[in-house]
Amino acid sequence: MQPQPQQFVPPSPACTRCGRFATWYAQTAQWGCDHCQVPVVPLQPVDTGSQAGMIVLKIFLFILMVGVIVAIKVGIRGAFR
Ligand SMILES: [Zn+2]
Repeated sequence: MQPQPQQFVPPSPACTRCGRFATWYAQTAQWGCDHCQVPVVPLQPVDTGSQAGMIVLKIFLFILMVGVIVAIKVGIRGAFR
């Protein structure tokens, strides 16, 4: 058997039944437990609610920055008039 080329394999999740580390099956592109013979769905640690909140915060900060830049430009233009 030839060594497989480096490919992306996410960190191994634990089986929800027995707690063993799951095995990555490239054929089906999913995790599975060798012991229980069941597919293992990794838990999503990222809270989508807080992530959406971060996006809203970033958009708000971006708008705030644009507003400050526009205000400075307008102020400079007014000073030279
Ligand atoms: Zn298991």
